[in-house]
Amino acid sequence: MASSETGAAGGAAAGTGRIAVLAEHVRNQIAAGEVIERPASVVKELVENALDAGATQIRIELSAGGTELVRVSDDGAGMGAVDLALAFVPHATSKLFRPEDLEHIASLGFRGEALASMGSVARCTILSRERPAGTGGAGATGARIRCEGGQLSAVEEAGAPVGTSVEVRQLFYNTPARRRFLKSAPVELGRCLDVVQRLALAHVGVGFVVEHDQRRVFDVEPAMDLRGRIRRAFGAELAQALEPVEARDGDLVLTGFVAPPRLARADTARQMWFLNGRSLRDKVLLRALKEGYRGLLFESRQPVAFLVLSIDPARVDVNVHPAKSEVRFRDERRLFGFIVHAVRAAVSRTDLATPGARLVDTSLRRAGFDVGRELWTARPPAEPFVVHEAPAREEPARDEPARPSAPSAPLTAPAPGPRTSVLQIARTYLVREVEGGFEIVDQHALHERITYEALAADLARGALEQQRLLVPELVELAPHEVSLVAAEAEHLKAIGIELEAFGTTTIAVHALPARLPHPRPELLVRDVLAILEENRRPTRERLLEEVLHRAACRSSVMAGDALSQEAIQALLARGAALENDQTCVHGRPTRVRFTLADLERAFLRRG
Ligand code: ADP
Ligand code: MG
Repeated sequence: MASSETGAAGGAAAGTGRIAVLAEHVRNQIAAGEVIERPASVVKELVENALDAGATQIRIELSAGGTELVRVSDDGAGMGAVDLALAFVPHATSKLFRPEDLEHIASLGFRGEALASMGSVARCTILSRERPAGTGGAGATGARIRCEGGQLSAVEEAGAPVGTSVEVRQLFYNTPARRRFLKSAPVELGRCLDVVQRLALAHVGVGFVVEHDQRRVFDVEPAMDLRGRIRRAFGAELAQALEPVEARDGDLVLTGFVAPPRLARADTARQMWFLNGRSLRDKVLLRALKEGYRGLLFESRQPVAFLVLSIDPARVDVNVHPAKSEVRFRDERRLFGFIVHAVRAAVSRTDLATPGARLVDTSLRRAGFDVGRELWTARPPAEPFVVHEAPAREEPARDEPARPSAPSAPLTAPAPGPRTSVLQIARTYLVREVEGGFEIVDQHALHERITYEALAADLARGALEQQRLLVPELVELAPHEVSLVAAEAEHLKAIGIELEAFGTTTIAVHALPARLPHPRPELLVRDVLAILEENRRPTRERLLEEVLHRAACRSSVMAGDALSQEAIQALLARGAALENDQTCVHGRPTRVRFTLADLERAFLRRG
């Protein structure tokens, strides 16, 4: 069928030209690939249309994972015969009229591509009846239209309830190459369910029912709140452990839930972001979430969170990607800081304890933490260790004239609060009774966290004091190592380390952070080198954090140090004063708690 476009090139076509404009149905099939990839994309587009139509109850029927049938029925506004005739036409939409509308899109769809795409790669039917406007009673019956492989039928009258039902059968029946790419029914069903669950979380107030091969596989009632929906989708254990997030800064509002770090997963499947009713996977948001959990999780673990962001639509551009799962924010930096702050506050309210029951399975090891690679296994011969109290920075320096910025005085004052006696086991673990059970503390991990927090707090206040060495300490390294370390000299100053290249194979260390009780310049330089070799070109923040962490590690009590009751109490008291004393900087637990229930289970007093 020659169209008017090809007619214009008619003269050339009569010759030997090889270029021809693609037929429209082929063009549509190609374009369809952008929007419709698999049954789950059909489900997404149809449910979004139902939501845009104001539905309060949506039913999704699937068969064979959606590859044979996806039918979505809603009780929304419906379409009259005139609209039905246009529904499958590419770029026909009721949601966008003028270019300016792109500036403030509030609907989920707006491109007018979804139904046209489905119509060109499947056998589709829409049955719809408009909601009567006023008393007039618009459509007394409903109407139906079909579109199969791009072939549109006429609109015919048909009985239907108010609302719309769209049926998509045999997806990709006319593009076998695509059909072959579909996975097994259970896999496709899983993806469809994921789509519906995300939408159900994003639209509290709307009820959803999913049936697969006539069996109900998911449902939520319209009145069910977000936590209830999470429970339905992901189970009671997670739902109960969630901590609410509530933050506002001008037009930015963040609500939703974060899960405690112990429920983190290997993948990001339970990180859900909702923006103005749209579920999305946006890099900026995902990064901000991870940042909010920083230091509370193993590097390889992913937090679990369900967060609802609302921003003035004029400040977001949702028209970036056809799948619309990424957006562009106008003031990205402000948004980032706002989220990190809100997430951190909520996460630190969760129960950060590592439950003893979890130790029984080795999930932490499987999470990729390299248990053998402990820094403290190579401890130099020990001097008797004293736990130092962090001096409050506002206080005048204490009475040690030789070292004006000496680290701190040994703690002698009794720690506040009730003292239960604490058992030290293998000179490594501290065991004590806590409410509802007992806990085991890793003395090194806890002290390291305390020292690190003190250093980091100094750094944040710009008050990290230096101790100058009277004679610079010289550290011998290979020439390339010297240049690697010396290149970071400027950055290291920020944390009180002053060093420079001294010839081609020597680093001269002039100053170190004053808070470190037994600084060993040589070891610090080697730490810096190790960090630089492990992470090619770390950011300044990352470098400083790592150096502080290792410095904290070296100047903390070690596994194997005998501690007096006094020192133990001081250590625990200082840990309790921290915002987070449950994990070390890298997310390894500092303490593990056993509840009475754990004991009852262990002794078979309960199932
Ligand atoms: P878009 O959603 O981007 O507008 P679609 O191809 O998904 O494009 O839908 C085209 C049009 O069909 C919509 O703009 C809307 O007017 C109408 N429509 C689609 N689904 C429904 C529905 N479930 N209820 C009412 N109208 C619908
Ligand atoms: Mg749509």
